[in-house]
Amino acid sequence: MVVPKERIYGDLEEARCPVCSEILLEPVTMPCGHSVCLHCFQRTVKLISLCCPLCRLRVSSWARRQSREKSLVNTDLWELVRLSHPERCRRRLEQRDREFEIIIYASRKRSMTVSQLQ
Ligand SMILES: [Zn+2]
Ligand SMILES: [Zn+2]
Repeated sequence: MVVPKERIYGDLEEARCPVCSEILLEPVTMPCGHSVCLHCFQRTVKLISLCCPLCRLRVSSWARRQSREKSLVNTDLWELVRLSHPERCRRRLEQRDREFEIIIYASRKRSMTVSQLQ
């Protein structure tokens, strides 16, 4: 498959997260093929529904496995997004870093409850 990387996600619409409507930051691609940013995934999918926010596919066991293998982020897609929109990614990462600690803290607290349920 030889497609120039810049062209695949050259269009911002295709690299946009359906949850926050911003550029996909560290995209997590679910088994259904939908992608959301890692921090949107942590905040919505993992903490609340364990379903894809778009098509409602249950991703709980998939998410558990990916988390365990530390392979939640779709690194290929993330690289494409960064290549296509370096400036936007940089700005969002700076923004994200400020709120990230709070999310990590919240998800740790929550993941205890989740693993007890399963
Ligand atoms: Zn997002
Ligand atoms: Zn989906």
